Amino acid sequence: MTSLKTKDKNHRQQSTVHRRIVALAGGVGGAKLAHGLAQILPPEDLTVIVNTGDDFEHLGLYISPDLDTVCYTLAGLANPETGWGRVNETWNTIANIEKLGGPNWFRLGDQDFGTHLERTRRLKDGQSLSQVTKDFCKVWDIKHTVLPMSDSPVRTIVDTDEGELAFQEYFVHRHCEPRVKGFRFDGVEFAEPAIGAREAIDSADAIVICPSNPWVSIDPILRVLKKIDKPVIAVSPIIGGKTVKGPAAKMYAELGIEPSALAVAEHYRNLLTGFVLDSKDGQLSDKFKGKILVTDTLMNSNTDRARLAVDVLHFIGSL
Ligand code: GDP
Repeated sequence: MTSLKTKDKNHRQQSTVHRRIVALAGGVGGAKLAHGLAQILPPEDLTVIVNTGDDFEHLGLYISPDLDTVCYTLAGLANPETGWGRVNETWNTIANIEKLGGPNWFRLGDQDFGTHLERTRRLKDGQSLSQVTKDFCKVWDIKHTVLPMSDSPVRTIVDTDEGELAFQEYFVHRHCEPRVKGFRFDGVEFAEPAIGAREAIDSADAIVICPSNPWVSIDPILRVLKKIDKPVIAVSPIIGGKTVKGPAAKMYAELGIEPSALAVAEHYRNLLTGFVLDSKDGQLSDKFKGKILVTDTLMNSNTDRARLAVDVLHFIGSL
């Protein structure tokens, strides 16, 4: 076990934070660290590759929840209470849909509806998801590069004790209640990484796996990317055996694996150069075989995000 204490000032002075990074991200957890990295790294040094396995069509619209969460977060437009959706949102459209007898289980705010309407129009006009994302990022003044993992459809299907469920059906409609038996990613065999993703990885110093759900946010991206020949650092989304939010710990438990930072490191075992776990899990340090960083990983504020990003970058510099 090699551990780097975050308060090691000498080490900090020796290593540089200027690294070219590709971050792999799902929604809320991933977006927070992506935002931290964006606060530290210049635009040319950060590309965020985002899961699109959660994407679906609803109310005739193409919805890309993780991509929107990452973009809204980087743009400072995200709702700070939920982590998803827009700040200062109103809910007239969904209220009207509900009144008319339409589905209301997937909550979409009025400004958010605008994003989905315009994205759907552009996709129907023949633009790719990455082109639409690039154009939206420009409007939202996001300087760092955000890419969907692929421009081809990949759909996460959750196998449960009630049969197979499309991801949003399981996650939002059924509140993650059915017991999980496994996952598959429809279309992943045919999906190529989005244009620019491979190049970003080839020119990166390291890949950072953000603290996102390993099963349904990161695994689809890894399946699309297939091979990564760069140092990979992952940040645990599980702290003290629990998730900060979402079903990752419940998924581990239902699949017969004790949820913990160790389980996350084991999940990525063939890829990892280094692993970042929370100070609350410091007592587990001796159990890790590879290089680890023990630090505070809970990101409750923009400052927390930037601090964790600096810690991760120094850790990368030390490897
Ligand atoms: P989703 O697609 O919106 O569920 O988002 P992600 O997959 O990106 O993130 C979900 C994971 O992020 C959960 O497992 C959370 O435990 C984790 N997470 C959320 N906030 C934090 C945080 O501040 N620190 C850490 N370490 N993990 C977090």
